[in-house]
Amino acid sequence: MRLPPALLAAFLVVPLVPHAVSADPVAPPAPAVRDFGNGPERNEVAADVPVRAEARTAAQAEQPGTLSHDRGYPRRTRLPVPPENPADASIKLGLVPHHGIAPRLNDLQQRGDRVSAQVIGRSYGGRDLYLVTVTAPESAAETREQERIRERIENDPAAAARDRKLVKTYKAPLFVNANIHGNEWEGTDAALRVIEELATSTDPKVADLLARTRLYFNITANPDGRVNGVRQNGAGFDLNRDFVTASQPEVRAMRQIMIDAQPVTVIDLHGYVNGTLIEPTTPPHGANYEYDLFIQNAYANGLGMEAAVNGLGYTVEKDGVYPAQIPFRDSAEGWDDWPPIFTPQYAPFHGAVATHTVEIPLRVNGSDYTQQPVEELRRRSAINTDVAAAAIRATYAFVRDRHDRLIADQIEVFRRGAAGEPSKAVPLGIVPGFGPEDVYTTTFPRAYVITGRRSQAAAARLVDHLIANDVRVERARHAFRADGRTYPAGSYVVDMRQPKRGLANVMLEAGADISPRVDAMYDISGWSHGLLWGAGVDGVTSLRVQADPVKAAAPTGSVPRTPGALALKVADAKDVLALNDLLAQGTAVTWADGAAIVPASARPAARAVAERYGVAFTPAGPSSGTPLSQVRIAAAASADELFTLRELGFAVTPVSTAALNAGYDWSGTDVLFVSSGLSYTALNPAARAALDAFLTTGGVITRGGTGAAFNAAAGLLTATAVAGRGDANGVVRVLSTGGQVGGGSPDHSFVYSPRWFTGLGPEVTVEQSYAAEGPLVSGHWRPDADGTGGQDAARGQAAVVSGRDERGAAVVLFGTEPMFRNHPKGLFPQVARALYWASSVTGAAVKG
Ligand SMILES: [Zn+2]
Repeated sequence: MRLPPALLAAFLVVPLVPHAVSADPVAPPAPAVRDFGNGPERNEVAADVPVRAEARTAAQAEQPGTLSHDRGYPRRTRLPVPPENPADASIKLGLVPHHGIAPRLNDLQQRGDRVSAQVIGRSYGGRDLYLVTVTAPESAAETREQERIRERIENDPAAAARDRKLVKTYKAPLFVNANIHGNEWEGTDAALRVIEELATSTDPKVADLLARTRLYFNITANPDGRVNGVRQNGAGFDLNRDFVTASQPEVRAMRQIMIDAQPVTVIDLHGYVNGTLIEPTTPPHGANYEYDLFIQNAYANGLGMEAAVNGLGYTVEKDGVYPAQIPFRDSAEGWDDWPPIFTPQYAPFHGAVATHTVEIPLRVNGSDYTQQPVEELRRRSAINTDVAAAAIRATYAFVRDRHDRLIADQIEVFRRGAAGEPSKAVPLGIVPGFGPEDVYTTTFPRAYVITGRRSQAAAARLVDHLIANDVRVERARHAFRADGRTYPAGSYVVDMRQPKRGLANVMLEAGADISPRVDAMYDISGWSHGLLWGAGVDGVTSLRVQADPVKAAAPTGSVPRTPGALALKVADAKDVLALNDLLAQGTAVTWADGAAIVPASARPAARAVAERYGVAFTPAGPSSGTPLSQVRIAAAASADELFTLRELGFAVTPVSTAALNAGYDWSGTDVLFVSSGLSYTALNPAARAALDAFLTTGGVITRGGTGAAFNAAAGLLTATAVAGRGDANGVVRVLSTGGQVGGGSPDHSFVYSPRWFTGLGPEVTVEQSYAAEGPLVSGHWRPDADGTGGQDAARGQAAVVSGRDERGAAVVLFGTEPMFRNHPKGLFPQVARALYWASSVTGAAVKG
């Protein structure tokens, strides 16, 4: 959700509808507030609210650390202690500030032989991420033996299932993830408390637990947010939406923990829902899980956590604490596990068979943080810490008591994948209340073939992403045929007979249009790396190919030997990076119909960027174009768009209504991007005059409702923006017609609060339109209550348009979401082409 801190209290409130078979007579005091929620306009956030500018550090480029298997436990790493920060937002709540974590962990490592801590990466803002492992001491040989078993469970699950001794030897891994939302603090403090208990306990049951399990704690998954008292990390990203994209270093670190530790159970500690909300979830359920195994374990642990939390004895009357609730049991809809963008909805693909979001009860963030007395805040935080600790203890007791079965079920997940078994329809009643509304299945193809038919660089990116997610990818030695198509040698193959086929499929499949089955969803309902990342991806029903496993995609850069000028078609983000690099070097580049033309004299520079970014130049032929130089952007945009534009190598200055009203110097700007936080009508006369002057030479790109309103108010293109339903989102089929922006685009796009354009003036070109069929391929898109705003209304309508307004400004209007959460990589080039075109046709003459 994109709410500025001041508005966090205004989270969209969506009632959890009572479940038909609900056994719980206790209604929460108010409709449960899902902090997973999204506003109707997901990106309409005032850019006046600064995204905290945090220095990017060299750590950005570092790969997250992995668990070493060559040393035993404990490891007793001396953690570096950050400088004291009196402004850390945790302090007001009486909680441990980020700078206080390392000293605590250094101390705990000295108190006995059970605790090991390490730095596994850094946040966007450069803060250390701490992983703690708690287990009984192991020799190096014992650690290696544990790793051999883990590896066998994943890679030889059929044999592992037959090995009766395995479960007796193997320590079941359990993962506690804390504080992924920075202003939901107390999971961290509860984790530290439980670690201390485990480190110092003389209880034989604890000794037994640690002999048979390994407990992994990510102490704070979001130190930037913890320190700043905000939900997002330093880049302004909600980390608990980033798991399929992994754009942020914190998420890559969590992903690596899941891959390396391979936990059987995961809890992800959040706040604040009163009574404490404990998953499993309502439908729709993700179709790529082995849900029969999952729901049995997850429900059992949910009940155990509920008992532990209620057993603390806090009451409504005395403490304002309501009894715990379990959405799967207590609600019909509203808290789903459909998109694998959340921690507990991603972890099952790495073998976790019971995963949970836990929402501790008493609100201490948002307006409460600023308005409640400190004593009241600390009272609430103390209770929240108790509740989170109770959930952790219940979960480790669950793993201890269900040790053998959890391991067996994890093995079974991987076994079904490796055997290529079809998706299982879960038997009704497998747990009480599991009905037809809970059954979701998918169809696994025999394999996916990934080709560079649109862009080799895009194929390479997708392959590397899959490998980073521990999905196995192979490369064909020779050309081969499948489903009537011929694929060239070098095509990539994802054999779906593999242990993590669920993860491969959830990323590569098109997904499903679930509009008919569910009234409302909380977050996105559609995503697809297969359709949105710019590579050619085909599911095939047969597989006969000689292929070799790959550890990384092959290099893709090339420059033709033919002498003369070179063309670089901007078809992938890598092409954008390469072009921006050339422009930064001052290379004399021209722009023509979606491609950059590089003169023969610049071949050495072209060769260098081809190698650096893996891009392919082609002979330019006789074509020429308009001169292009570095595009300087003023952007009134959301955090993900700023991040993406910068990631593409553009120079971006954030602007807003307030920034322009304060007096903005337009002389350094070529193109204005507007999607958020800028209202033309709210500009003062001076600011409006300055902007109008800019519009005689500069270009404008807009997106969404704010962008469309800006277009209308500023009198740019003749076009009426029509809004689809506000919460509609997903993957849509599109038809690209225009040359400047749409040309060469994938056949699919992504929408959230979709828009289309009617009443187009003669100056307007349709770059892309929604397909006449659908257009939704996967996601959720229903009409509004009055019947408007649905998929039907959007059919065949213009989704992206371009044109020159009467002042001469080159303008592009997006009704789609080409940079949403940095996810749809294959759509980024549309924005880049819009920027290059707008800059080259309107800016070139005056830039000198
Ligand atoms: Zn949260």
